[in-house]
Amino acid sequence: MVEKFEMILDNLTTAVYIFQNNKFVYVNKAMQNLTGYTEKELLSINYLELIDFPYREWVKRLTEKVLSQGTDGVPLRPRFVGVRKNGEKVWVENIPRLIKYRGKVAILGNLLDITEERKMEERIGNLCEFYRKLGRAVNLSATIKAFCRRVIEAFKYIIDYDMADILIYDEEKNILRLCIEEGYPEDLREHTIKEQKLGEKKVAAFCALRRKPVYIKNMKKHPLTGYVVSFCEKYNLNQMYTVPLISRKKLEGVLQVIVKSPKVLSEEDRKLIDIVCEEIAAGISKIKAEQVLRELSQKDYLTGLYNYQRLWKKLEEQKDREKRYKEVYSVIYIDIDNFKSYNDTFGHLEGDKILKKMGELLRSSIRKVDSAYRYGGEEFVILLPYTEKKVAKKVAERIKEEVEKNFSFTRITVSMGVTDSRTNEDVIKMADKAMYEAKKEGKDRIKVI
Ligand code: GH3
Ligand code: MG
Ligand code: MG
Repeated sequence: MVEKFEMILDNLTTAVYIFQNNKFVYVNKAMQNLTGYTEKELLSINYLELIDFPYREWVKRLTEKVLSQGTDGVPLRPRFVGVRKNGEKVWVENIPRLIKYRGKVAILGNLLDITEERKMEERIGNLCEFYRKLGRAVNLSATIKAFCRRVIEAFKYIIDYDMADILIYDEEKNILRLCIEEGYPEDLREHTIKEQKLGEKKVAAFCALRRKPVYIKNMKKHPLTGYVVSFCEKYNLNQMYTVPLISRKKLEGVLQVIVKSPKVLSEEDRKLIDIVCEEIAAGISKIKAEQVLRELSQKDYLTGLYNYQRLWKKLEEQKDREKRYKEVYSVIYIDIDNFKSYNDTFGHLEGDKILKKMGELLRSSIRKVDSAYRYGGEEFVILLPYTEKKVAKKVAERIKEEVEKNFSFTRITVSMGVTDSRTNEDVIKMADKAMYEAKKEGKDRIKVI
């Protein structure tokens, strides 16, 4: 009979033990497998050695409680981290029962290895956190760069990567351009290719062209990573996974993840990356569309110059900078002379052509830091940061020359008013006033206030 029970207990996959007088008095085979100790070792070991340090006190208290008052009031299935003989940690669930063994109280316990279950719970928790962060990234990011930075950070929740980067696809030039990178050592960062033309024999370009993920199992030996082989050796780079970011069949970019030895990118990891990359691509596409809309809403459809709303915003920024850093800025107010009669003579469409050409002319004759706006009708404004009116007047003179050159076939001229923020008045009002004086003095001239 006893033999029969022992045979059953030894063939159970659950670890079973009897604990009495602070010692194990019985352990089955599964208990030996779970802990990595032999039966002999277990029968003499201090049971607390099997428990990971942070849980020791707690398990000790539970054990004493069960022995003194039974299982009432203790967690039904306490969970803690155990330490195997080889130092490996395992999550276990314990099911203790108070019994009488050889006439004295003892604990009959079952131990289940729940490490896989805990890992899964942790992964699900991390995945939830990643999606929460991704959602926030989509809502909070005004630019693709800001979005990608948030994505790469959030990515840590789901993949234990060493290096990662995102390249964004420029459809016009047919190239991938580096947007954000994380974890790259300085020298390798310098060496990475910031731009890759589609069709080139480089990982990201290859992946984008095929529109399929590329998994490199051994970076030190793969032809596509051949150009950085010395870095792969130096930093022990092991595996790489590159995924195209595609939303509504449109290529938005490429995401790459690299791990060092001995880490690998398991099939499960790669599947997860594939799935989240669809969400990331959708995020990029949404932010891009918003950017285009925002840009459009700040531009004048006819001339392509910025509009009145944008000027207002920029002026607020300038006023702020002036207050804070005493930074001077200038404004040129431009009004086309006798434009009504031009329209009356040649028609509205011809008038539109003049306005369009004026837009091009203004854009090309100002410096990079300056900005041009269609203020309304045939009136334009140039905003010149860090500029005094003396210099702004020179810019106005250059514009006047350009107008003469470009409109020599018509009799189009402009009147301009120039002022700067040191006049301590509303700059637009003052520049308008200066322009009005130019008109009064006979048009086709520049006045500075
Ligand atoms: P001044 O030299 O005093 O500035 O005379 P002006 O005729 O240019 O000024 P006025 O303010 O009397 O007329 C401005 C004209 O600009 C009236 C309008 O027909 C024309 N205009 C305004 N917006 C547009 C536009 O979008 N397209 C065209 N073709 N004309 C426009
Ligand atoms: Mg006018
Ligand atoms: Mg006019």
